Amino acid sequence: MTHLVNDPKKFAADVLAGFVRAHQDRVMAVHGGAVRATETPQGEVALVLGGGSGHYPAFAGWIGEGMAHGAVCGNIFASPSASQAASVARAAHAGGGVLFGFGNYAGDVLQFSRAVEMLAKEGIEARILTVTDDIASSDVHAERRGIAGDLPVFKIAGAAAAQGWSLDDVERVTKHANDRTFTIGVAMSGCTLPGAEAPLFTVAEGSLAIGLGIHGEPGLSEVPLGSAQEVADDLVDRLLAALPEDRGSRVAVLVNGLGATTYEEQFVVFGRVAERLEAEGFTLVAPEVGEHVTSLDMAGLSVTAMLLDDELEQLWLAPIDTPAFRRGSFGATAAAPPRRRALPQEAVAERAAGSEASQSAAALALGLLDDVVLVLKEHEAELGALDAVAGDGDHGQGMVLGAVGAADRGHEAARAGVGLGTLLREVGEAWAESAGGTSGALWGAALVAAGERLGDTESPAAGDVAEAVSSAVAAMKEMGKAELGDKTMMDAAIPFAEVLAERVAAGDGLAQAWQAAVDAASEAADATAALQAKKGRAKTHGDHSVGHADPGAVSFVHVARTVVSKEA
Ligand code: ADP
Ligand code: MG
Repeated sequence: MTHLVNDPKKFAADVLAGFVRAHQDRVMAVHGGAVRATETPQGEVALVLGGGSGHYPAFAGWIGEGMAHGAVCGNIFASPSASQAASVARAAHAGGGVLFGFGNYAGDVLQFSRAVEMLAKEGIEARILTVTDDIASSDVHAERRGIAGDLPVFKIAGAAAAQGWSLDDVERVTKHANDRTFTIGVAMSGCTLPGAEAPLFTVAEGSLAIGLGIHGEPGLSEVPLGSAQEVADDLVDRLLAALPEDRGSRVAVLVNGLGATTYEEQFVVFGRVAERLEAEGFTLVAPEVGEHVTSLDMAGLSVTAMLLDDELEQLWLAPIDTPAFRRGSFGATAAAPPRRRALPQEAVAERAAGSEASQSAAALALGLLDDVVLVLKEHEAELGALDAVAGDGDHGQGMVLGAVGAADRGHEAARAGVGLGTLLREVGEAWAESAGGTSGALWGAALVAAGERLGDTESPAAGDVAEAVSSAVAAMKEMGKAELGDKTMMDAAIPFAEVLAERVAAGDGLAQAWQAAVDAASEAADATAALQAKKGRAKTHGDHSVGHADPGAVSFVHVARTVVSKEA
């Protein structure tokens, strides 16, 4: 339970504000997160970490000398938006390029990749680096989720940046560090989102869930809870089985508490882990025991091994000075870096006025969006519960945050007299920004694409609307790369666009065609219950999701249906 909360929707923002207040000498807030409060030497690669909030010290706690230059802070367990990532990167950039580091989650990959494109247009070279250490999540290293391995992998990246390595070199060594990093975790109980009444999952009394996720995703299998030594042995056995043959003899080890497991328990487990690894011929180099990558109030822990070579060991041992992680010293003679002066200004885009016809179309669209907000609020809990089956339980929250942010921006733009195209583009950007997450990125891209198709001069006819919907769905497909049958919102969106286009071409009025499209999408969304998830967070838990419809497909139908009930 998260006991001390103001407005649950603002919890992540309140956390960030308090964190920045507490560490004013080291960090400062920027749009989307925080950056170092001190100057970075010109030309140094900027390491910008990120992901959802709820994992402290990851990621903002690692801003400082020897590690990150900035952290993008999304909502609780939801990936931040591309524009938030770009904003933090812009403020962190010191002329040496940017390396974005984050765990391998679909939403983060989509959003950070978009941020890379945005920054490229401004002449800032950025690259992405995904951590893939969770051996329980896949047999293929590159497809694994990122969990506590974030700490050692980003420590390597930050040390290389601090030593003045080029972007190519920092990227290379960080990838290498990730290839040599392996984690396995267990959960004794799930975590509860701020404001929620029940945890995202539960573990049966006397059981242990193996293969935890750090967003309240349920464990991948359950075993009886043994003594600390038995648990440690089980974890070490699984870890050893996953190590490559050329494992070397020196290893950085991390025992990481998830948030509600005592340090005492962590030390007991670490003692046995160390004994076992030494018996295997390993030398433990500067091990870490403590809370580094948490999952709110989840009880559990994980064991991470990063196999070292000379290069990695030197970087692992290099000094670091951040709010949450310190090691060694930068030397008595080195003066503390000076406080940075001004932050770069955000560019403000000009708004062009739309034609009268397009402005009235925009007003109609905005009315529909206000209705969508109400409908999504009504279904928020149901969508969250569906997402908790095999995902992280935030889909209801994400859709509401996205729609509310979109509507707020829409009203502002409408007051400025924009046409339908500009309205939809702005609304899409705001949706992605406010929602974060995979679905937020996809809805944002869809609305932007629809806006681009409709423009700011004409009052759209039925055929234009059908084409705009097709463009929107094509944008989602292009971004998410999901196919029909992968158990995502595309399973509802694709038939929706197809039926709408067919019926409009056959001469139906828009309301009638839209209704037929909603019916097709609704049927398709229901049918996703029988499928196994192949994309997104839920794919790791493919079997769990069978019997439950895909949350993104269900919410798509809610949104589409709102539009027709108003039109009709
Ligand atoms: P997150 O998974 O980042 O927590 P949400 O919970 O808001 O994001 O959204 C989950 C939904 O996103 C899924 O139910 C699915 O419909 C959709 N989704 C996930 N990955 C993809 C993808 N690659 N393409 C299309 N839709 C996807
Ligand atoms: Mg989710």
